Amino acid sequence: MIAKVIVDVPAKQTDRAFDYHIPDHLATVIQPGIRVVVPFGPRKIQGFVVGIHEKSDFDELKEIVEPMDIAPVLNDELLKLGDWLTEHTLSYKISAYQVMLPPALKAKYEKKIKLISPVDDLPEEIRPLFQQKTEVPWEAVTDYLNLLHKEVLNGTLEVVYEVKERVKKKKLKAISPCMNPKELQGILDSLAANAEKQKLVVEYFIDNQKSVELRELVAYLGVTSSTITSLVKKGVLKEEVIEVYRDPYENRTFEKTERLPLTQEQEKAIGPILASIEENRQNVFLLYGVTGSGKTEVYLQSIEQVIKKGKEAIVLVPEISLTPQMVKRFKGRFGDEVAVLHSGLSVGEKYDEWRKIQRKEVKVVVGARSAIFAPFENIGIIIIDEEHETSYKQEDNPRYHARDVAIERSKYHQCPVVLGSATPSLESFARASKGVYQLLSLPKRMNNQALPSVEIVDMREELREGNRSMFSRVLVESLKDRLQKKEQIVLFLNKRGHSSFVMCRDCGYVVNCPYCDISLTYHRFNQQMKCHYCGYESNVPLRCPECNSEHIRYFGTGTQKVEEELGKIIPEARVIRMDVDTTSRKGAHERLLTDFQEGKADILLGTQMIAKGLDFPNITLVGVLSADTMLHLPDFRSSEKTFQLLTQVSGRAGRHELPGEVIIQTYTPEHYSVELAAEQNFDRFFEREMLLRKMHQYPPYYYIALITVSHENVAMVASVTGNITKFVQSKLSKEAHVLGPVASPISRMKNRYRYQCLIKYKREPELNKTLKTILEHYQQEMVSKGLQISIDVNPYIL
Ligand code: ADP
Ligand code: ZN
Ligand code: ZN
Repeated sequence: MIAKVIVDVPAKQTDRAFDYHIPDHLATVIQPGIRVVVPFGPRKIQGFVVGIHEKSDFDELKEIVEPMDIAPVLNDELLKLGDWLTEHTLSYKISAYQVMLPPALKAKYEKKIKLISPVDDLPEEIRPLFQQKTEVPWEAVTDYLNLLHKEVLNGTLEVVYEVKERVKKKKLKAISPCMNPKELQGILDSLAANAEKQKLVVEYFIDNQKSVELRELVAYLGVTSSTITSLVKKGVLKEEVIEVYRDPYENRTFEKTERLPLTQEQEKAIGPILASIEENRQNVFLLYGVTGSGKTEVYLQSIEQVIKKGKEAIVLVPEISLTPQMVKRFKGRFGDEVAVLHSGLSVGEKYDEWRKIQRKEVKVVVGARSAIFAPFENIGIIIIDEEHETSYKQEDNPRYHARDVAIERSKYHQCPVVLGSATPSLESFARASKGVYQLLSLPKRMNNQALPSVEIVDMREELREGNRSMFSRVLVESLKDRLQKKEQIVLFLNKRGHSSFVMCRDCGYVVNCPYCDISLTYHRFNQQMKCHYCGYESNVPLRCPECNSEHIRYFGTGTQKVEEELGKIIPEARVIRMDVDTTSRKGAHERLLTDFQEGKADILLGTQMIAKGLDFPNITLVGVLSADTMLHLPDFRSSEKTFQLLTQVSGRAGRHELPGEVIIQTYTPEHYSVELAAEQNFDRFFEREMLLRKMHQYPPYYYIALITVSHENVAMVASVTGNITKFVQSKLSKEAHVLGPVASPISRMKNRYRYQCLIKYKREPELNKTLKTILEHYQQEMVSKGLQISIDVNPYIL
């Protein structure tokens, strides 16, 4: 038998499946969806079996070395989904398969050098290396590369790659009884009176016939492991090694929550979802409801119905809102039936959560973007909360959007997809308006709680009145007021495009990264400037390189600066700062939030990461320090993102008994994104923004595709992009607009120049084929000359 295998050839990807002979002893094991180790040139590499055939068009096939799995890691549905991903994102199959699996299953290659002749054939210098063993790790021989290279050519040595699994399964010692309770009773009676401890153990197993972890048993009964060992020796008990899961929530208990009687509005919204579950219908619902309107309860009760039918549920939430509070809501309702997948887990933990799903030991997965590939086989619902979040789009290959994958999977499983949001993406709301998606609304907050009152403060006015600080007078007053009342405050700093940079006050010179086209960000803690794209670091110059002035220093308002200023205005306030610097350690994010919840601070100050999920009763004031910094980015979605963010931040205040107040500081108070976010008026915003999108031919009226070319040589980049642009123009219809070639918004990154070609189109059946042709045409240059061409269909970052 012949296996067709998609191989993981590092550096040189291809979508061709290679034929391998299946050795007889593996005939029953090898099947589609299994990972295998195969020889490829001089190496051994990982591959995925995608088909089994009786014949091959090729002679002299190599043999599969060994399987890496006992059961397929990709089922039929996921293999097909891999084809679909490849097609729609113009990526390679191998990366499509790998993105669907936990990183632990991506093979690690260990490079070694292997002796194949007698050791005496080697030159003397390297003989000692191979005296003891015939294989030496690559790292150990790098001093002798030239010599080794010669010997490899001579055929004395060989470079081998060993495929390594990334994680080990976690194993524990466990104890189980060898006898039934009646026989154990006999043992108990026969034990001498002084064998108290042994009696305890035997009694335990009379009551519990199941195996139990040794450590746990010892702790529970207060015996020593030698007591157990002696019973094992007597043949009463046996010791075994069991495989256990690493549980990221091991030391936590989740209080059971009961379903709430739904409000009339929730009933109305859940009706069509339940009907769709019941009748196995593929529908896409847009559940549009303000924060606090009870969407999550609708999700929970829909999932309950799915579980009752014996099916499974996938719930996606943005990484940033995958807080313990969020996890608690699902684990509290469904307990151990829930697996959780997010980037904070270790590789091993992710793998174990994934295997619980694969082995059908759980019914629900709650996770970030990649959880959309959960290997459930009987999906009854897919829920995407905060569906407008840009983090659902993967920014490297394969550049998929989780929403598209969800819809594709729902067709296979004939199940509903529920997209939830208080500020839906324009794409989704437009589809709902046209009836492509079914719109469900929850217009009111629970208990008719009022939305917080919002005040917009014009910072230009403040400046005119002589206030140069980053805090308006009304914000300072309100801060002092809340401190006095012992209520809590959230201060939000829109970090994007607002990082601190170093500038000369005299001539305006800004220190840029020498390799990328952006300013360096100043970090107070080590007083260094750092490039956020390539990591380049440097000291702040003492004098301006342009005009030699000494007045060169950092500008802008990072969170650290805000904290410092706060200290001057209200030194008595206790502040918790949440940004990339304070949350980089594992668990830090959660600890800071818990501290805040427990009232260990008055003010929570932070960036984007505090915009979501916070639901603390004592927060009565939310301050947005600068609403408009994001408006000026070269991105057609910048108004939409500003509106969403402001609406969301405002939603943090007054979610419980105490009424909330929001103060938004801005330099452009008249901008519709700011005004309408203050009113929480999504409908008006949608109307306004759609007009602009139509005028400028952006989504959702047009689709876009972005081709970015990069290389160290700017002339080459310009000419390749020019050729690509012409080629695309010649292939597409007159309705498509092909813009370019132009330098990208970030025109140089990591010392590579970047040019782009932007395509706006409505319906272009030839588009994918055209784009593929480009990749094929330049394949040679990409491999040999380091040219990079990336194609993003429906890009989220322009
Ligand atoms: P959303 O997901 O739209 O932000 P939630 O589901 O979190 O809204 O609901 C907001 C609050 O209202 C939560 O504290 C939740 O427990 C409560 N809640 C939701 N549905 C009901 C209900 N039917 N009866 C009583 N309380 C509810
Ligand atoms: Zn200067
Ligand atoms: Zn850089």
